[in-house]
Amino acid sequence: MLRRSLLALSRSDRVKGLVATMPVSSGIVARYVAGESTEDAVRTVGTLADGGLLASLDHLGEDCHDRTQADANVDAYLKLIDALTVSRETGRAEVSVKLSAIGQALGRDGERVAIDNARRICRGADDARTTVTLDMEDHTTTDSTLTILRELRTDFPATGAVVQAYLHRTEQDCRDLAYEGSRVRLCKGAYKEPASVAFQRRMDVDRSYVRCAMVLMAGAGYPMIATHDPRLIDISMMLAKRNGRSTEEFELQMLYGMRPDEQRRLAELGHRMRVYVPYGSQWYGYLMRRLAERPSNVTFFARSLLTK
Ligand code: FAD
Repeated sequence: MLRRSLLALSRSDRVKGLVATMPVSSGIVARYVAGESTEDAVRTVGTLADGGLLASLDHLGEDCHDRTQADANVDAYLKLIDALTVSRETGRAEVSVKLSAIGQALGRDGERVAIDNARRICRGADDARTTVTLDMEDHTTTDSTLTILRELRTDFPATGAVVQAYLHRTEQDCRDLAYEGSRVRLCKGAYKEPASVAFQRRMDVDRSYVRCAMVLMAGAGYPMIATHDPRLIDISMMLAKRNGRSTEEFELQMLYGMRPDEQRRLAELGHRMRVYVPYGSQWYGYLMRRLAERPSNVTFFARSLLTK
């Protein structure tokens, strides 16, 4: 119940207006968001690398309805890629992009704008010898995102896809995406979705996750197992072993600020562990989804608001 309310609030402009002026440095925001600036993001990559961790950086800015802002979001990614190049971090960090931040949410021409903008980011990443992964947003965007992915992969075959185990369609999407060279991040899914398209019970989502992991691990692509769920991590690692995959042939992923000790422990065991690092001032929607997953943090968040 609380989870659904928080997910509904993640789309509320009114509440966003009330809380989104909090600086990233305050309380709970700092726990999940690496900072506001490019420098904060690059510094975080260095700190993670000291612990043997890789990174995927997300410049926050989803649900953008303004063309100028969408273009500014692209510029922020290009600036980030330049800064990673200068710091020699492109071997350890890639970028994650939400298409709604770079044009997909603009209406009639949105898809075309998003493709052109995503192409600019992919070109910059390719020149810097790193990669881009396209985050997956709510189910109304899934077809459009996979269409854009297919188009980008003709020129930039290493562009990563994300699939969400809570969607009924995802096992089939995994079959379609499990081909040579295809990088696929498997997550549970973070949005409020109706029963017509998504499993509603945790157990059904977990079962779907295992079926999808089976398809990806048995396929020819590169699976990226994105979850903090210890059971699903164990099962995925067992499936990797059963399919004869070495630790170079799949990776584990977690979010910045979540289970940091476990991130380092898995890296020390020799696994490729990539941390998803959001940064920037547009943290509201991202943080609300994290609170929906860990309602115990809501009191902590409310306290940060009162002391702001
Ligand atoms: P949950 O169901 O949240 O947790 C399962 C179990 O894991 C818990 O019961 C607990 O035992 C353990 N656990 C979880 N969190 C903690 C914690 N902080 N401390 C201790 N134990 C914990 N979603 C999208 O919709 N689109 C995306 O593009 C996307 N990209 C992602 C990228 C990455 C790298 C990751 C890790 C997640 C991404 N997500 C994305 C979010 C994802 O869909 C889930 O919403 C989120 O990961 C929470 O689900 P979970 O698999 O971690 O399991």
